[in-house]
Amino acid sequence: MQYISTRGAAPTLGFDEAMMTGLARDGGLYVPDAVPVMAEADIAALAGLPYEEIAFRVMRPYIGGAFKDDEFKGLIDAAYAGFGHAARAPLVQLAPNHFLLELFHGPTLAFKDFAMQLIGQLFQASLARSGRRVTIVGATSGDTGSAAIEAFRGLAGVDVVILYPHGRVSDVQRRQMSTPSEANVHAIAMDGDFDDCQARVKDMFNDFAFRDEVGLAGVNSINWARVLAQVVYYFSSAVALGAPGRAVSFTVPTGNFGDIFAGYIARQMGLPIEKLVIATNQNDILDRAIRSGAYVTDGVKPSISPSMDIQVSSNFERALFDAYGRDGAAVAQLMAELKAGGFHISQGALETLRATFASGRCSEDETTATITRTYAETGEILCPHSAVGVHVAEQHLGPTPMITLATAHPAKFPDAVEAAMGTRPALPPRMADLFDRPERITRAPNDLAALQTLIRERTGR
Ligand SMILES: *Cc1c(COP(=O)(O)O)cnc(C)c1O
Repeated sequence: MQYISTRGAAPTLGFDEAMMTGLARDGGLYVPDAVPVMAEADIAALAGLPYEEIAFRVMRPYIGGAFKDDEFKGLIDAAYAGFGHAARAPLVQLAPNHFLLELFHGPTLAFKDFAMQLIGQLFQASLARSGRRVTIVGATSGDTGSAAIEAFRGLAGVDVVILYPHGRVSDVQRRQMSTPSEANVHAIAMDGDFDDCQARVKDMFNDFAFRDEVGLAGVNSINWARVLAQVVYYFSSAVALGAPGRAVSFTVPTGNFGDIFAGYIARQMGLPIEKLVIATNQNDILDRAIRSGAYVTDGVKPSISPSMDIQVSSNFERALFDAYGRDGAAVAQLMAELKAGGFHISQGALETLRATFASGRCSEDETTATITRTYAETGEILCPHSAVGVHVAEQHLGPTPMITLATAHPAKFPDAVEAAMGTRPALPPRMADLFDRPERITRAPNDLAALQTLIRERTGR
């Protein structure tokens, strides 16, 4: 399998290189040149298998010759060995036709661990083979950074540099980034918001001399390997509820559109998904875009579900690429318009998107009320992101089973949960000492040259 850029002007790459490169050199995102379709019998055969085996069967066609089967299996096993639940991604039932997919049993308590733990293993194996060294640079609204640091701490051949918006991540998120003591971990508190952090990372990738000098590699949610790892739990949960014999729908709390785009890939592969419902908080650019066709930014409003406080939703470009008939030049044009504030999705592309995606928005008060009510009705404690999902899902319930993705553990966002329930959710015992560990943080201005100097110093390049 080969990977092509959504803007049509970057080299075609194999899996390994697409994974290491992150952002394509034309500014686009890598996607498979063709999505492999799984036969119905092969999907049915996934029912009841261990998560790792489902992961192997779903991802195998995308890897090409990058890893031998036995090696790939070993890397998958290693990736999920540190999870705190035997099912990895267990389903719980909330209401007669509404299920919650708990994706927060990984080492940093958010769904990002599913992709990041695997990517850590894949990078290490790939770098050991080539003898290369890379510097992973990522921007985070909180959960990506902690998941990346946890996945790459202490690995050979890799430095991991994470930019997060100073003062805008939760204490648990910050401590998960600032307490690992390994020399290859660099947590940077940058002035600005998440979009500023993401913009500086993009600037670094677009500075080709710097990119080559420090061996930049990306693990943000635009990284194809991350999307791929997330495709797996759409399969594992759908077959647990009767797919392919029975269709299901998913509601996905969405920021950068990576997680829900994985659901779109699962659907392209033949998994019978009726609707993929985009759930946004008050930063609702995607909900507005699906409803009106206007994709227009209007500034980030900090919310109690901060991992979704995003205005420019990077992975949406991948969905647009397909909706525009894989016309890279058309996508490049839209992205140029976005730089000036926004664009209008063509009527044809909008209809294509609406055939797969529905959407909804959840206000701050609705988020809090959903945490309170869900706990009272079911005993399930939701994190605020998952609550956004549950609220929006409830407006889309019907005869098809709905699976809402629970993207983080409630203890990762204790203030919002306490405000809704009156009690503070406890961290799982395996990380109960997080608040006793010493922190190590570097402050930096929102300035490209200063950041580049800092990275050269810290990585010794
Ligand atoms: C990252 C994140 C999201 C948003 O996921 P995207 O892939 O960016 O859409 C939602 N909830 C939590 C807890 C997250 O960490």
